[in-house]
Amino acid sequence: MVESKESVGVIGAGLVGALVALGLAKQGYKVTLYDLRSDPRTAKETSLRSINLAVSERGIRALRYVDEEMAERVLDGIIPMHGRMIHDLDGNQESQLYGLFGEAINSIDRKKLNQSLIEEIELFNSTAKSKIELIFEAKVTSVQVNGGVTIDYVHAGEPQRDHKDFVVGADGTYSVVRQSLQKLIRMNYSQEYIDMCYLEMYIPPGPNGSFRIDPNRLHIWPRKTFMLIALANQDGSFTSTFFGPWELVESLQSPKTIEFFFKKNFKDAIPLIGLDKIIECFTTYPRGALMQVNCSKYNFEDKCIIIGDAAHSMVPFYGQGMNCGFEDVRILLELLEKNRHDRRTAFDTYTESRAEDLKAILKLALRNYHEMSSDVTSSIYLFRKKLDGVLGRLMPQHWIPLYTMVSFRSDISYSDAVKFSQKQQRILKWAEWGAVGSILAGSALYLARRSK
Ligand SMILES: Cc1cc2nc3c(=O)[nH]c(=O)nc-3n(C[C@H](O)[C@H](O)[C@H](O)COP(=O)(O)OP(=O)(O)OC[C@H]3O[C@@H](n4cnc5c(N)ncnc54)[C@H](O)[C@@H]3O)c2cc1C
Repeated sequence: MVESKESVGVIGAGLVGALVALGLAKQGYKVTLYDLRSDPRTAKETSLRSINLAVSERGIRALRYVDEEMAERVLDGIIPMHGRMIHDLDGNQESQLYGLFGEAINSIDRKKLNQSLIEEIELFNSTAKSKIELIFEAKVTSVQVNGGVTIDYVHAGEPQRDHKDFVVGADGTYSVVRQSLQKLIRMNYSQEYIDMCYLEMYIPPGPNGSFRIDPNRLHIWPRKTFMLIALANQDGSFTSTFFGPWELVESLQSPKTIEFFFKKNFKDAIPLIGLDKIIECFTTYPRGALMQVNCSKYNFEDKCIIIGDAAHSMVPFYGQGMNCGFEDVRILLELLEKNRHDRRTAFDTYTESRAEDLKAILKLALRNYHEMSSDVTSSIYLFRKKLDGVLGRLMPQHWIPLYTMVSFRSDISYSDAVKFSQKQQRILKWAEWGAVGSILAGSALYLARRSK
């Protein structure tokens, strides 16, 4: 626990901001949480962002680190997905397991998770002496460092100003805190739009809330340069997302072209979503852009630090954006604890130790698009995956597939996972060349003997 009641402004009450606010308050900080949106528990608007997402080991560990019982409550009702279900052009389905020992990633409702975290803040407030102050509809316009930190924001149409000892920026991809931080430190920063757009569709439940396809799989219709995916919701429905290049989506304008495109590529998805709904979606629904934001450093002295999408916005193909943001929270809280709330040391250590890992997961997320949309149907990929799995089962201490390290092993950092996997891939390649060499040598010997 921090001794003095130092005050912190957490900017952004999204998934990461709500969790870090709770974690800091439990450590004894006096927390004020600001968000430009209205309270998600009462808000009517739905954001364009995915309706459900996959929460896995790193995210779950962070939730448990903040509060075991809270984690149980907010994760109640998650749907385990033990693998992918690949849908081919003819509608045949093939299951590919994620883990070697029954591990799963889990589908969770984004809005419900955000609401649950805010409810947990209220629950904390009901017994805590120092309550978390929640200010919704507060658009932060800048943070300025002086003796402490000055937060300027607009609330109910009026400009407001608060002073805090420090600020945590969890205000997402277009972070204002990051922009303010960039003026204070020599921050390396990159932002790249990916030529990929996404559209969300809905697969309604079957009779009596039943699931019309297997809920315990992440469904993928991989078509190389574009794909469709679907994740189950608790009520028997699925949220389906189409990913494809902008040019392709913009070319699908008339009902006829959309119908032709779906009949050719996603025949078995048509009865699930409904042709009229597909056409409505492609012609009227908002389209999401995907981009990567990478930066470092993440802090200015002990005054300001950014976490979550504000520090690393990634494409969603490894299902790690939120999980990684939750892991940021755990690591930051652990460092504060370990350094007895010497914030300067904790923040500097965070920046030093986190940069390599964030760089690694950003790269992996981008690369995984090819795995999901294309590799999963390649026989070489499937052969290597099988071999990877066999070795992982035979020597679980010494051989761990990359997906397992990233999604199920929060004790292995993202950058170590990449290094370890590169080593394993080199061994697999040697083994493959060895096998090819043996076959060639055997054939040559056989032919030589026959010709004698
Ligand atoms: C299609 C899609 C699918 C995804 N699937 C997954 C998945 O399966 N698994 C996974 O782990 N991740 C997934 N992600 C990534 C995940 O959504 C993000 O990583 C996560 O939401 C980041 O949380 P955050 O709290 O850092 O940012 P956000 O969720 O963006 O929250 C930021 C908050 O800050 C507020 N804010 C912004 N600016 C201001 C301001 N100036 N003043 C006050 N408040 C402000 C916003 O209103 C918002 O509430 C997916 C993303 C997309 C787009």
